Amino acid sequence: MREVLPGTIAAHGMALGRARLVQPSRYVVDTRPLAEDEIDSALHHLHHALDTARLELRELRGKLHGALAREVNEFIDAHSLLLDDPELLRGLDDLVRIGHYRPGAALKKQRDRLSAVFEAMDDPYLRSRKEDLEQVINRVISVLQRQTSPEERKLAARVGEILIADSIAPAEMAQLAGNGLLGVVGSSGSVYSHSAILARSLGLPMLVGTRDALSNIHDDDLILLDAERGEAVVHPTAQDLSHYRAWQREAAIEGRRLAKLANAPTRTRDGIEIGLLANAETGADVAMARARGADGVGLYRTEFLFLRKKVLPSEEEQFIAYRDLVMGMGGLPVTIRTMDLGADKADAAGLATRGEENPALGVRGVRLSLRHPSVFTTQIRAILRAACYGPVRVLVPMVTQPDELIAVRTLFKLARQELKHEGIDLPEKLPLGAMIEVPAAAINVRALLEHSDFLAIGTNDLAQYVLAADRGNDALENIYHPLQPALLRLLSHVISAGRRARKPVSLCGEIAGDANFTALLLMLGLNEFSMHPTQILQVRDRIATLNHAHLRRQATKLLRAYTHEQAEALLNELSEPA
Ligand code: PEP
Ligand code: MG
Repeated sequence: MREVLPGTIAAHGMALGRARLVQPSRYVVDTRPLAEDEIDSALHHLHHALDTARLELRELRGKLHGALAREVNEFIDAHSLLLDDPELLRGLDDLVRIGHYRPGAALKKQRDRLSAVFEAMDDPYLRSRKEDLEQVINRVISVLQRQTSPEERKLAARVGEILIADSIAPAEMAQLAGNGLLGVVGSSGSVYSHSAILARSLGLPMLVGTRDALSNIHDDDLILLDAERGEAVVHPTAQDLSHYRAWQREAAIEGRRLAKLANAPTRTRDGIEIGLLANAETGADVAMARARGADGVGLYRTEFLFLRKKVLPSEEEQFIAYRDLVMGMGGLPVTIRTMDLGADKADAAGLATRGEENPALGVRGVRLSLRHPSVFTTQIRAILRAACYGPVRVLVPMVTQPDELIAVRTLFKLARQELKHEGIDLPEKLPLGAMIEVPAAAINVRALLEHSDFLAIGTNDLAQYVLAADRGNDALENIYHPLQPALLRLLSHVISAGRRARKPVSLCGEIAGDANFTALLLMLGLNEFSMHPTQILQVRDRIATLNHAHLRRQATKLLRAYTHEQAEALLNELSEPA
């Protein structure tokens, strides 16, 4: 009975729960034809499931903030539109009314029929819409199935669920995490996918690449997800359970030990102080950042204010959000990033440059802000006003060349004069920094340093642009790798240039919060890390075990690596004190 399925660890931890398979193509639906007198209630069921699916999408949209919202809202909007598509709905009604299909069977029929139509299209974009269509219909089918088996739901809710899926969309994970999801086993997927990043920040254990998961696990099987060893144990034995209890005890002790680090300074073994800042967007993030002893906020992504609604946020609304953040940090410095809207993500606010073929290489970040000076000035005024309540630094995203920083400074100067005329007494100077996430900015960083008071390296985007590999594309995990030598050399170049110019350099991409890369970043000379507050204690703990002087001496050796595999081997060898 017991079976062990190996997988790759995408987020550490362990969980015991019942399997919930998301295997939409294999949903079993009742194919018996409806009797005449069942048609009305079947239609009622169908529409109730459609309404529930719509409502869930709306609720999900309302719950997401920050970077997560940015990633996920696009999918949610596409799916909501499909759910209201008159042709789709008419087809479903006809299948039930005229064809006597039951709701599940009608949805399945419609899904397969329309998928075939999309599949046959020449246009690759339209062909790719097939996936959206399938996901949205599967969502409705799963709502229907939920409605038909309340007993099962009760059972699963009591024990908690471990999701077994081919791959899981970030939207789905965000929603399930709020409903008692304990962990995820993916039969495919990558450790760099957004879902994996999300699982780590939600503290959900996750395996990817567990090849046989969908064929060897069944709904309601008891699963021990061991994302410490990298395996999913189906029907665990008493011995497995005792191993799990031991892990739980150790995790609790470790949790208490780490909690004690909340008020400890962040120092390497040889006494070098390192700054730990938080990437924070919500009130909860700010509270956690303070509770864990962050030295400030290193990245506050303002996009969520712009993506939440269809209208642009007013100066007052922005001011309140920024002021609350500044006050929440109680005098510690707060880095507010000006809006990083991409052309494809700005539709809600009506700022998009339409029809861009490559939005990631298009009018996004500061490029977009500078094309909308009045919208940008509203944000700048709100930031300046919030700066009356505590120390604020301003961070500019997607900078490529100095003239962009010069233009931003000018707008700040003008807004400051305006506010002064209005009788608002502002602090003298706000430090202005550039995000380093475009390769040109990294290579030519000295030019940007002339116009910046500090730098923040955004490795999430820098890696994707250096490697020409979409950060969200799971198929490129062997290329989109944090230890790619080209990326390491650029990081080293930027950090050294900052040090020579005596300007602070922080790093706020995902790797800053991953304790596996702490030694690497210290080796490259980084002394300010910004991460999601959940990661602060682990990184502080790791730093305390490392010898800074030793690591710094190893940097040149590491930078000789030709491949990311070599860099990884070298890192393991060099991060141990001699
Ligand atoms: C980055 O690109 O590394 C970054 C921190 O910004 P974002 O993830 O918001 O693009
Ligand atoms: Mg970025």
